[in-house]
Order: sequence, then C-alpha cells, then structure tokens
Amino acid sequence: MLALAAALAGCAGGATDGPAEDDRPVVLTTFTVLADIAQNVAGEHLRVESLTKAGAEIHGYEPTPGDVRRAADADLILDNGLGLEAWFVQFVESVDVPHVVVSGGVDPIDISGDAYEGLPNPHAWMSPVNAAIYIDNIVAAFAELDPDNADDYAANGEAYASEVQAVYDDLLAELDAVPEAQRVLVTCEGAFSYLARDAGLDEAYIWPVNAEQQATPQRIAAVIERVDADGIPSVFCESTVSDRPMQQVVEATGAAFGGTLYVDSLSEPDGPVPTYLDLLRHDADLIAAGLQGESG
Ligand SMILES: [Zn+2]
Repeated sequence: MLALAAALAGCAGGATDGPAEDDRPVVLTTFTVLADIAQNVAGEHLRVESLTKAGAEIHGYEPTPGDVRRAADADLILDNGLGLEAWFVQFVESVDVPHVVVSGGVDPIDISGDAYEGLPNPHAWMSPVNAAIYIDNIVAAFAELDPDNADDYAANGEAYASEVQAVYDDLLAELDAVPEAQRVLVTCEGAFSYLARDAGLDEAYIWPVNAEQQATPQRIAAVIERVDADGIPSVFCESTVSDRPMQQVVEATGAAFGGTLYVDSLSEPDGPVPTYLDLLRHDADLIAAGLQGESG
C-alpha cells in the first residue's frame, strides 16, 4: 500500500520524499481523457489521477483489488457515465467517497444496432459541445470539494472551454471543403456519433461498441458497400483496437486508410496525443485530410 502510494507519487513527478510531500486532495478519474480534462480545471490545487493507463481498453476493464484501495483513498471520484464504465458501478458502490458523473446534462445519442439498441452511446467527450458540459460539471464538483479555490476552478474551466471551442472551430473550418457525399466518417467502433453530429458528418462503423468488438463478415460487407456507394476516400480505426478488419475494407474498396484515431484513451506523454486538446486536433486533422482525398 505504502509502496504503491510512493510509486504513484513518484510517477506524478518531482517529489522523492513520498506522499507526505503532497497533501493536495486526490481526484481519481476512470480514464486518461477524463483525467486530462479534470487536470486542466484543477490547475495546481488538486492531484488528478486516472485509474486506467494510457492505451487501456476502457469498456471491458477489470478493476484490481489495488484499484479499489486506490479509490477508497481518493477524495473525489469522477466517471464518465452513460454506461461507459460498466465495471465501475459495483466498484464505486464499494467505497465511501463522493462520486460525480461528468456527463450529467448531456443530450445522449442512442447506440443503434445489436444488443446495445436504445442504450446511450458513452463517447460523449468526443463532442466539443459536450466537453463544455463536462467542464461545467467538473468545476462544480471541485468547488464543492475545495470551496476555497472555487474561483480558480471557474476561471480555469472558462479558459479551457474556450481552447476546446477553438479546436472545434478549426475542425468545422477544415471540413467545410469536403464535398457533401464524402462527409462520412468510417471507423471501427461507433465511437464518433457525437463528433459526427457536431461536425455535420454521417457515420459508419464495423461494430457499435468495443465491449463487443465483433467484426463479422456481414458487418465488414455492409461497410464495404457503404464506402463503395458513396465513394468515401478514406476510412479510419482507433488506437485501442486492431485495425485489421478495416484493412479488409481498404483492400476491397480502394479507399485509403486515413490513420489511427484516438477516442477511448490518450497516448503516452511522448506519443501523438498526450492531452485531450491534442486528441481533438489529431482526429480533426486526420478526418479533414482523409475526407478531402484524391477523389474529392
Ligand atoms: Zn469506445
């Protein structure tokens, strides 16, 4: 336990004297994207951590006893909700720590197809519009946790929300040049429904949610048909899953592989998307470039 705490303090950087050096309240989030958004609101006042590591498959994550102890020691737990952390419900009920669902107030988009029909799509953070709601919820949660610094959280949240808005504005401007028929975002997981809605894109995907992740021949065939019918120049897959099924689409259609999108996790700090803003920029650039491919 102490060793773990010391190791974590070490990871957080700097202090070599162990956790006693850092008596800031600890905010534990379920995944790296949420941790980064929360850290931007927290500034220097709080220690924000992610339970899952960069690159983790978050839909089917299985918490360890160490994770439960870590949660019990936190001062506040933030999770996404909308069914993302199915593994989290029992987990959070087993510890006596305040808990805030950051997607509260988001207008959910339902998943269409298969066993998930009618359930909300959990990937609401991929919408810059929703990100503003996440930020507001986090500001409120931090103000309650640490009222002395409430003004700072509000100011941090406002500044950060305008950075997110700027990335969103750039995305819309870039996509402006893409012809109407090619404004279709083709991905492995159906993780981009909110972004597609915000950006005025149609979407097609091989499987609805990673929890299932079944690239059946029928599903691949349906995507191939769509890509052929609309002459979609590029298709994509996400960093936390195998892109092999999408490579079959590429081989069958002549569409280009547009690159690896990030959605369920940030990269390591030295990777392409160490922050949420990097993630949005990276995906926006790839999507805009890919959909303006040679046939456009
Ligand atoms: Zn996902």
